[in-house]
Amino acid sequence: MTSTPLVVLENVNKHFGDLHVLRDIDLTVNSGEVVVVIGPSGSGKSTLCRTINRLETIDSGTITLDGQPLPAEGRGLAKLRSDVGMVFQSFNLFAHKTVLQNVTLGPLKVLRQSKSEAEARGMELLDRVRIGNQAHKYPAQLSGGQQQRVAIARALAMNPKVILFDEPTSALDPEMVQEVLDVMTDLASEGMTMVVVTHEMGFARRAANRVVFMADGQIVEENTPDEFFTSPRSERAKDFLSKIL
Ligand code: ADP
Ligand code: MG
Repeated sequence: MTSTPLVVLENVNKHFGDLHVLRDIDLTVNSGEVVVVIGPSGSGKSTLCRTINRLETIDSGTITLDGQPLPAEGRGLAKLRSDVGMVFQSFNLFAHKTVLQNVTLGPLKVLRQSKSEAEARGMELLDRVRIGNQAHKYPAQLSGGQQQRVAIARALAMNPKVILFDEPTSALDPEMVQEVLDVMTDLASEGMTMVVVTHEMGFARRAANRVVFMADGQIVEENTPDEFFTSPRSERAKDFLSKIL
């Protein structure tokens, strides 16, 4: 398999005041690859995701998407935000819009699709996340697992090059975790490029091409899931795994 680098971080550093939150981060995500990022709370996982779609700026180093440096502003930034989908722990759906409207808003406003085009594609995506029959409901009428699947459909509607998932199942009741992971597993097997911050080790084992372990703002270890879970190299990773497995 040839690897085409899609997202490349080189020597990335970021501070929040005195806190050195990302330290010399080097990370390449290839096209079609699923990279799972794990690590203790506060290790910089969310910040790492947020730098990739420029919700956060960086202090030094470079980040490129498809070979191009991340644009700082204007149209380039809007394009970046549609190229880099993001799914958050807290869904962030628009409460006063229906499920379908949540999914078509970006395509209508940003991609300038026609209403019929956006709605047809929106329905297709809602079916794909197994929620087509809820299209005309409002988010509050849906379970958390259903809302998160809407958020995934909304991200997909922008035809992103990569989707970043930041603990997408952490806010869900336990019985809803699997339905969201199943949709993510489908996406992974269809070749979507994904960066997934998660504590769901079963998903990491099944779906990840690579596991990146972060601690204190650094990538401490990067390995195949098999290697990582059976023989972690670093003490930090061993310690972390002993607490969660
Ligand atoms: P993780 O997602 O791994 O739990 P985060 O990236 O959210 O870690 O946070 C890394 C560190 O940066 C934490 O110590 C957190 O408190 C701090 N941090 C995150 N966002 C901000 C911010 N906007 N301002 C100041 N500190 C922040
Ligand atoms: Mg986080």
